[in-house]
Amino acid sequence: MGGALFFSASRSNKMSRSVSIDGVTKKFGDFKAVDGVTIDIHEGEFFTLLGPSGCGKTTLLRMIIGFNSIDEGSISFSERKMNEIPPHKRNIGMVFQNYAVFPHMTVFDNVAYGLKARGVAKEDIRRQVTDVLKLIKIEQYAKRSPSQLSGGQQQRVALARAIVIEPSILLMDEPLSNLDAKLRVEMRSAIKEIQKRLNITTVYVTHDQEEALAISDRIAVMNMGHIQQIGFPREIYSRPRNTFVAGFIGISNLLKADLVGIEGTFGLVEFIGGEILKIPMREPRIGKVIVAVRPEEAKLMDAGSCTMKGTVVEATFLGDTITYVIDLGNDLMMQVNEYIAESEFSHTVGSKVGIKLDESRINVFSADGEKAFV
Ligand code: ATP
Repeated sequence: MGGALFFSASRSNKMSRSVSIDGVTKKFGDFKAVDGVTIDIHEGEFFTLLGPSGCGKTTLLRMIIGFNSIDEGSISFSERKMNEIPPHKRNIGMVFQNYAVFPHMTVFDNVAYGLKARGVAKEDIRRQVTDVLKLIKIEQYAKRSPSQLSGGQQQRVALARAIVIEPSILLMDEPLSNLDAKLRVEMRSAIKEIQKRLNITTVYVTHDQEEALAISDRIAVMNMGHIQQIGFPREIYSRPRNTFVAGFIGISNLLKADLVGIEGTFGLVEFIGGEILKIPMREPRIGKVIVAVRPEEAKLMDAGSCTMKGTVVEATFLGDTITYVIDLGNDLMMQVNEYIAESEFSHTVGSKVGIKLDESRINVFSADGEKAFV
């Protein structure tokens, strides 16, 4: 093992592998927990599986590790098929939600464990463990037992233990969910920095969309065993492929409307109050549609200056923004956020307002929510 080389490596990590998941299915009885999933994860990429509880993220991760068998399809690491390779021969580092550090061993021994098991020489173990403890910034705790550490420090030990073996792939399943909000933010920066420094292919599982947006190079959004969308964080946020993704990532007001005309590359959408929006679209089709408006894609104006109008029913002060809930009539509510620094005045509950939508940013979907027209 070339420990020193590995831990000082940047961009050219020879150990790192790509992961090709090709038409993979996992059944429990008749139930398909993962259903025909295809993903290509690049070498050195930080890739996140994101979705609600029960969507199949952990099942897929366990298939990559080898804890779950593969019923259909294949998983390959840099073109080498893994379906029949046992977990201990896949050279994977793992970090889980519950730390899983050994309580009766010191931090040093915890991190050294995997190297000892592989028969690495004592002097090399000392050097490699010391290097990784420094990298993860826990060298001062080397002689402590995990019970003398905070949750965040214990999770650093788990991370150190996972990477000291120079894995080809690092897998993390909700590693931050036992930590408090502030520590989660701190730890996600630390994980991202170390991942980039080592350039190690990482598959990360979370149900927390904000965490996924912050930490990932790319994200696969999953629901009910299927991939809904794969893309860069910005792409998934600004151009969701269906209403599930639009609603799961951030907040979207999903409102019914009619696509009443097509003008070149624009669709004409008739909206609440008879307002016609001219929206750039790839494949406009006349008929009923769903318009998705993020709270920052609408602006509140003077009621007289807009066709679309509503009444403020809630105004919540959040420091840098005010979140408004606007009653548009016909049982339709819309959330609109305004930055305090950008809005001239705040609107009081009960006041009439006009609403101006940013046509270049809002999204339009088919009436069943399955297809994006923008
Ligand atoms: P969470 O975020 O809650 O961990 P998840 O997206 O990781 O959820 P999975 O743990 O992959 O979801 O589970 C996907 C589905 O498969 C769930 O409906 C779950 O009940 C089911 N499932 C998982 N493991 C088994 C099993 N061993 N036997 C039967 N059903 C299972």
